[in-house]
Amino acid sequence: MSTAMMTMRRAAALGARHILASSSSRVVPIRHMSADVGAAMEKIRAAGLLKTQGLIAGRWVDAYDGKTIEVENPATGEVLASVSCMGSRETSDAIASAHSTFYSWSKLTANERSKALRKWYDLIIAHKEELALLMTLEQGKPMKEALGEVNYGASFLEYFAEEAKRIYGDIIPPTLSDRRLLVLKQPVGVVGAITPWNFPLAMITRKVGPALACGCTVVVKPSEFTPLTALAAADLALQAGIPAGALNVVMGNAPEIGDALLQSTQVRKITFTGSTAVGKKLMAGSADTVKKVSLELGGNAPCIVFDDADIDVAVKGSLAAKFRNSGQTCVCANRILVQEGIYEKFASAFIKAVQSLQVGNGLEETTSQGPLINEAAVQKVEKFINDATSKGANVMVGGKRHSLGMTFYEPTVVGNVSNDMLLFREEVFGPVAPLIPFKTEEEAIHLANDTNAGLAAYIFTNSIPRSWRVSESLEYGLVGVNEGIISTEVAPFGGVKQSGLGREGSKYGVDEYLELKYICMGNMS
Ligand code: ADP
Repeated sequence: MSTAMMTMRRAAALGARHILASSSSRVVPIRHMSADVGAAMEKIRAAGLLKTQGLIAGRWVDAYDGKTIEVENPATGEVLASVSCMGSRETSDAIASAHSTFYSWSKLTANERSKALRKWYDLIIAHKEELALLMTLEQGKPMKEALGEVNYGASFLEYFAEEAKRIYGDIIPPTLSDRRLLVLKQPVGVVGAITPWNFPLAMITRKVGPALACGCTVVVKPSEFTPLTALAAADLALQAGIPAGALNVVMGNAPEIGDALLQSTQVRKITFTGSTAVGKKLMAGSADTVKKVSLELGGNAPCIVFDDADIDVAVKGSLAAKFRNSGQTCVCANRILVQEGIYEKFASAFIKAVQSLQVGNGLEETTSQGPLINEAAVQKVEKFINDATSKGANVMVGGKRHSLGMTFYEPTVVGNVSNDMLLFREEVFGPVAPLIPFKTEEEAIHLANDTNAGLAAYIFTNSIPRSWRVSESLEYGLVGVNEGIISTEVAPFGGVKQSGLGREGSKYGVDEYLELKYICMGNMS
C-alpha cells in the first residue's frame, strides 16, 4: 500500500475523512481508477445514479460553504467521488422542507402513498445491478451479498407499501351510553434517520419505508463512508414520485447534523442504527425536545452449538452468521459457544469451512470476504486478538492481516476463548470467530446472557424441547434456531438491553412512526 493511501485510510479511521475545498469536478475522472472500478463507475454514471450532492426540498445541492468529502473504495484505496460535506445550516433547511411537506404528504390517501412506495421498489429492483456495484465499491462487500442487500432493502419498500393500507384505528366500547370512543393512528411528523455504513441501502429503506407509509417525512443522514448508495436510492425515490421534501438527504459533519436534528422542535422522531455509544448520545440528546426514539445498536451475539446438533447444519449456520459482510454486522455471531462433547469435531469442520472462504475484491465473482471498512476496524481486530492470545486463547486459523494488504484480514478462528477476553465482552466487528467451550445448558445460557447487549442469538440443537427452553431463556430480541441468517422484512428486528429500543420491519415496525389519538365523542344519544 502506498504511503498516501495509508494516510488516507488512517484519516478515515479517525473519522476525519478528507474534507476538500469546493471543486467543480465532483466525480473523480475514470482514467484515475483501475480498469474494473472505472468500468463499474461508468455503468453507474450512465444509469444517472452517480449523485454527489445532498438532497434538500427535491433539489440536489452542494454544501453551502462548498466543502466536499471523499468517498473511497476500501478494497483499493481509490477515491470514487467527492460528496457534499454538509452541516447544521443544510440540515435546518432539510428539516424545514420535510416539515412543510409533511402537511401535504400526510394528507394523501394511504393508497396514494402506497403507490409511490411501490414504484420506488420497482425502480430499485430495475437498477439492482448499479446499486449493488455502488455498494461493493464504497463498502467492500462481495457483489453477491450486495445484490442480496438490494433485494432485502427493496423488500421493506414493497412490504410497507402494502402495510400503508392497513394502519387501522379502533373503536372502543364506551363507558357511558351517549359516548363514542375512537382511536386514530397518525404519523409522528418529521423523522431524522441516521444510518451506518454496513448496510448502505437496507438500513435506509427499513426506516424510510415505514416512515413514508405512515405519512411522515424524513431527513436521512447516511454514513459518510457510504453516501453514494443512499444518494442513488434517493434519486430513484424522486423518479418514483415521492414528492420533493418528503425525503431529504444530508451528509458530512455527523455531530453537527445530529445536533441540528436533535435540537429541532420540528423533528419529532429519531431513528438510528449504529454504535451503542452514538445511540446513547442521541437518546440523551432527544430528551430536551422529548422526541420519540428508536435505536438499533451493537450486539454481542452468542451462537450456541449443543452436543445434539447436526454438525453440518451447525457449521453452515454459524459460518453464515459469523462471516457475512466479513463479520461487520450487528447480528454477526460474536461468540460461538460449543458444548464439550462436540467441541473438537465442530472446531475441525468449522476451520475447514473457514479456510474455504475466498478473500478479495468484492467485484471478483469468487470473493466471499471483502475488506474491512477502514484501518481502525483492522486495528480493533488486532487489539482483540492480542488481548485473547495474551490471556491463553489460541489462534486456530488466520489471525493476521491478509497478504492482499489494505484492510483485508484473514478469516480467523480463535479457540479456548473465555469471558475475561475482549472477544467475549465486546463486538469484534470483523472476520474473527471465537470458540468458547461449555459443559451444560445452564452454563451456556448464563454465558450467552452475560453481556449488556441483546440483539441476535443463535442455537443449534436437534432437540425440540431444548430449542424452546433455550430460546425462551435468551435475553435477545431475535433468536435463530438451526439457522444463521434470519432477518426478513416480515419479522420484527430489534434488540433488548443496550442493543436498542423499538422494532424495525414487520407490522410492528409501523408503530414506531405513529402516534395514537383518542377521540371521545359526547352527546351522541
Ligand atoms: P459505526 O461505528 O458503525 O460507524 P457510528 O455510530 O459511529 O457507527 O455511525 C453510525 C452513524 O451515526 C453514521 O451515519 C455516523 O456518521 C453517525 N454519527 C456518528 N456520530 C454521530 C453524532 N455525534 N451525531 C449524529 N450522528 C452521528
